[in-house]
Amino acid sequence: MNLPVKYRPKKFEDVTGQRHVTRTLANALRSGRIAPVYLFAGPRGVGKTTTARILAMGLNCAEGPTPEPCGKCRACTEIMQGRSLTVVEMDAASQRGIDDIREIREKVHLLPPGGKHKVYIIDEAHMLTREAFNALLKTLEEPPERVTFVLATTEPHKIPETVQSRAQRFSFQPLSTEVITRRLLEVAGQENIPLEEEAARRLAEQAEGGMRDALSLLEQAAVFAGDRPLTVDVVEELLGLPPAHTFEEVLEALAQGSLEKVIPHLESALHSGTGLDRWVQGLTRAVNHLIQRIMQGEPLPENLKMLTDAHLLAWARMLLEFDVVYRHTRFPELLLEYTLMRMAYYPRLLPTDWIRPEGAPATVPSRRGSEGTARTRELFADLPADVVREQGEGSYLLLPRNREEYEQFQQLREELASRTGHTIQVAKPPEDDPLLQQLKETLDLEEVDT
Ligand SMILES: [Zn+2]
Repeated sequence: MNLPVKYRPKKFEDVTGQRHVTRTLANALRSGRIAPVYLFAGPRGVGKTTTARILAMGLNCAEGPTPEPCGKCRACTEIMQGRSLTVVEMDAASQRGIDDIREIREKVHLLPPGGKHKVYIIDEAHMLTREAFNALLKTLEEPPERVTFVLATTEPHKIPETVQSRAQRFSFQPLSTEVITRRLLEVAGQENIPLEEEAARRLAEQAEGGMRDALSLLEQAAVFAGDRPLTVDVVEELLGLPPAHTFEEVLEALAQGSLEKVIPHLESALHSGTGLDRWVQGLTRAVNHLIQRIMQGEPLPENLKMLTDAHLLAWARMLLEFDVVYRHTRFPELLLEYTLMRMAYYPRLLPTDWIRPEGAPATVPSRRGSEGTARTRELFADLPADVVREQGEGSYLLLPRNREEYEQFQQLREELASRTGHTIQVAKPPEDDPLLQQLKETLDLEEVDT
């Protein structure tokens, strides 16, 4: 079983999610107006090479040229199996030098018996050397009749302008999770793989827009599962993701500002081979699920009731910022540590712009609450206005300015909660908060009045 190969599309209409490309190519085949050079740009595993092969089949099919190659004649089957002499596939990642291109130039006019239209499919074309591009350009300047080059690339900006200007360009799109999920369920149905929808979605998310990767993952998962049905749990186990409920516990701890309860979760995940980025992905997904629930008007789980949409959106932003910086940092662990601190300290320490223009001051809003709304002032009339911060609907945080106030607020808390009917939390006093001090020092942040 090799699912990506078995389910590789053999017709334009089966290529998922690239209608704008396949329709234009089918029309070109119908009208006989085939360009000498095509540039297929797009992420990996979204059908670039497959589309090139179908184009080649359309040109060489015994019934062709046709937008609907039969898939059965000798030309079609040889092209599908990658052993046609008329269709030359090369991988510029390994064949990138001038000699490889010279060989093309020498043979470009030769059409093997039975061949109708020679097609060169150059994968990862941006990897060709400059000399190779120059040699290729000479061929492209006087394109021989009945020869077409398809340059497939994930990095079109690396293709020289001179080559790009001679090519007809198509942009292949990454596939949505939804589209991949549906296709996985379809394939699983045909293969009698008992695949749960939620598990399919998890695999699709992991494939990041590529159908080929998604199908490989499905295959791995089926082998891994053995006799078990393919559930979310099995998929998470395969991907080395901790089960979803552990992320809820992490979020609960973060909401309580208890960073120390988060660390064991993280450590056990890292021990069992989950990468840092995978773990954050899981956490991001858990936050996203909660946001979705709120948007759909569903209640949050009991232990996460205190979270508001504003709080969750702020967390989501911090996690997305982690994702951006993660790819560039040499200190991934430190980055994660700070991200978790920011999450645990929200909203006491409001997020600052993680990436800010050079020289711009980093600031944190004051720990003191703002004047607040009239309603807040009315509810907490006996407290100074600037120690109360409204966290969201019916949820307030008291920010003591010193230890004395901290103890006073602790005593007041229950009474205030029952009087106002709201959730009241009390932040630690500044001097008891070494983590806050450390965070401010390390990140070079200043506390300022808002
Ligand atoms: Zn055919």
